[in-house]
Amino acid sequence: MLTETPARDDAHQRALDWIAAGPKEIWIDGKWQQARSGKFIDSINPETEEKLTAISDADASDIDRAVMAARKAFEAPSWSAMTPHERTNCLLRIANIVEANAAELAVLESLDNGMPLWYSKAGVNAVVNQFRYYAGWPTKMFGATNPSTPDIFNYTLREPIGVCGQIIAWNVPLVMASMKIANALACGNTVVLKPAELASFTTLRLAELIGEADIPAGVVNIVTGLGAGAGAAIASHPGIDKIAFTGSTAVGKHIMRAAADTMKKVTLELGGKSPNIIFPDADIDKALEFAVRSFCGNSGQVCSASTRVLVHQDLHDEIAARVADMASAYKVGSPFDPETKLGPLVSGTQRDRVMGYIEAGIADGATLSFGGSRLGGKGYFVQPTVFSNVDNKSKIAQEEIFGPVVTIIPFKDEADAIQKANDTTYGLAGAVWSRDFSRATRVAKAIKAGRIFINSYGDADPVMAFGGYKQSGLGREYGQESIDMYTQTKSVWARL
Ligand code: NAP
Ligand code: MG
Repeated sequence: MLTETPARDDAHQRALDWIAAGPKEIWIDGKWQQARSGKFIDSINPETEEKLTAISDADASDIDRAVMAARKAFEAPSWSAMTPHERTNCLLRIANIVEANAAELAVLESLDNGMPLWYSKAGVNAVVNQFRYYAGWPTKMFGATNPSTPDIFNYTLREPIGVCGQIIAWNVPLVMASMKIANALACGNTVVLKPAELASFTTLRLAELIGEADIPAGVVNIVTGLGAGAGAAIASHPGIDKIAFTGSTAVGKHIMRAAADTMKKVTLELGGKSPNIIFPDADIDKALEFAVRSFCGNSGQVCSASTRVLVHQDLHDEIAARVADMASAYKVGSPFDPETKLGPLVSGTQRDRVMGYIEAGIADGATLSFGGSRLGGKGYFVQPTVFSNVDNKSKIAQEEIFGPVVTIIPFKDEADAIQKANDTTYGLAGAVWSRDFSRATRVAKAIKAGRIFINSYGDADPVMAFGGYKQSGLGREYGQESIDMYTQTKSVWARL
């Protein structure tokens, strides 16, 4: 069913005013600048399919300017000689200004990407926490002293890497932009970031807010444009020391190759097809609540979503019926209706891609337990869709769909569950549900993925490292490991 669009509030109006102010320029060296090409890309509202405004289509020459500004800022004493305490304060000021503008940012995100407003509000909250989390780090990046012979003093210094090129996807734009910017800045780096062409608004607005937070000009530069243009220019730019990418595995491989010539440090956060294993002794009610919430959240456009629900064969039919029933109660509709659980997908292309996978699931003989259709005349809406009796080798169980589609896959026993869970090229996340502590910890250890939940799914906290095994990525974001990704160590050998 489709829900209605409710009336606007002040924050909604502020977001609309920001959009109506005109086509967006790019943010370089602390100010708005025109892209050299003079070209723009339309920004479409996925709920209405109407044009909201346009963003700049920057090219390699704009990336050159942004890299120059970032280099100058990296070397300037205003940033390079800043004390750790001052750096902490910079990040806290950004957190505060984001918090003060949270309602407007959430509306902008929902207009641009289509996510329900409650979801984008939770995202902005997470953004504030991310900046506060990374604000704690500058004073806690320690080197080490290493034992050697008595006439030697050997110690390490932990130093920033330099200019960081960052490229992100469209699914949770502000959360991704902020986690990358906060991490880089905490470690003393500077940034050139390209948001995804499909959802750039909140990253541009964040740039403006960072400008108001009294951060030295050039420390954060935001350049919008296409992957093949601005994105490719970042990936190969000789003036960029590190590249951090979030997106598809296919493009991630391309980025890694492009970064090789100049030996950039590379971190990649890529796709997933995460297993969620439910044993018969689990709290089944809770397991299903989390499973449905996960595959429907952000209309399934989440890299770590629970997309393969592995259930014991004795429970399969009952669980399939219950998941179908629960999914049928999830309302699809306007991002601004508080009843909405699923907004539209981000674009017509994404909707068509998802519909193609649904057709493939039916053709491959999986049981369509619920959904499978587009909704509404306008907007990129797709029903939550439940496939059961799915063969783990089939296309819908192996390929990332990035839409509200779950596959329910039966298993025989623990060994079969683990084998199926790991029979994938991905390794981003996974979960095990069981009241048997030994089994839960055994299975958590056996799943080959970077983040495992026991009796939960999808929680995120900056204290917990995130990243992929296998083709889901390289390196980690969040947690202590993310500090290692944005610093390099220098060993100093002093003969006394
Ligand atoms: P995508 O097509 O790989 O694009 C990601 C970003 O890369 C966009 O900004 C895109 O630009 C840019 N890009 C495309 N081609 C490029 C090239 N040749 N050189 C440099 N940059 C290039 O991914 P998406 O469709 O936006 O996002 C969905 C994917 O992201 C899914 O696979 C999902 O699993 C993954 N993801 C992973 C995580 C994680 O943390 N592991 C989080 C979120 C999403 P334009 O789109 O503007 O052209
Ligand atoms: Mg958009």
